Amino acid sequence: MSDLSRLEKWVKDHPFLHELAQLEKVIWETQAGFSVPEPVLPDWAVVEEDYRRGMPLLRSEKINLPVATPAGELTAQLIRNCTVGDVPLELRQACETMAGFFAANTDPGRQVAAKLLQDDLPGIDALATAGGVNPGLLYFFGWTALRRVLTPYLAAFDAWRDDDVWQRGYCPGCGALPVMAQLTKRGKGKERLLVCNCCGLKWGYPRIVCPYCATDDQYKLAILEPEEEEHFRLDVCKNCQSYIKTYKKDGNEAVALADWATLHLDVLGRERGYKKMGSSLLAL
Ligand SMILES: [Zn+2]
Ligand SMILES: [Zn+2]
Repeated sequence: MSDLSRLEKWVKDHPFLHELAQLEKVIWETQAGFSVPEPVLPDWAVVEEDYRRGMPLLRSEKINLPVATPAGELTAQLIRNCTVGDVPLELRQACETMAGFFAANTDPGRQVAAKLLQDDLPGIDALATAGGVNPGLLYFFGWTALRRVLTPYLAAFDAWRDDDVWQRGYCPGCGALPVMAQLTKRGKGKERLLVCNCCGLKWGYPRIVCPYCATDDQYKLAILEPEEEEHFRLDVCKNCQSYIKTYKKDGNEAVALADWATLHLDVLGRERGYKKMGSSLLAL
């Protein structure tokens, strides 16, 4: 089954996600039609020391990946395609405003990508104010484009890095907090991976430790099992009042590990009094 048919099946079972799925389809089509430049891979050894002391790759001053320009182009394409695609009306109108801003200025897409790479969120806000556009949408489309353009670099970085050295609650690629986790088969048992919603990296993390406050107090950690989603659960922490959505299976990752696809589980977490702590792109 292709990712697209899995997406369609998911929406059939979760009709309230129809509009977000339409947006996701436009994103997938645009990403698929974009040719990502051949990566010029650095020698990862230059970031070894930074990596060992917990510095995410994109935050390291030792490295400067040439991704801002292509990510900027892809950001502009995504926004343009959302003005004509079958996406929710309100979003289409916001994208029209953004497309106007992009057409009238010198390369705002590249600026968005550069600011995201530097984690300069006030810079994104300033850019959004100058263009009269929604900063949350710049952030969303900017990361969506960067994730695609970074893929070959992060795949190589992931192959190089030692997961056992990291063991931190934030992403080794970009430093964001995870919004999803996955319990994946490893040997005879299961390993817990945390999933970055921004750059898309996954990394290993102990199963009985809160990724947000690092408590390993078993009396503070609990599991909520949603009635209608047998393949998912929420791992909650009573120390920092957080939850993380967890996919308990392998397969269908393109849908199951996407934040938007399990928004109903966020509702459950909130209803039980827990907070979403991860770096979500959906808080628009
Ligand atoms: Zn990341
Ligand atoms: Zn916690």
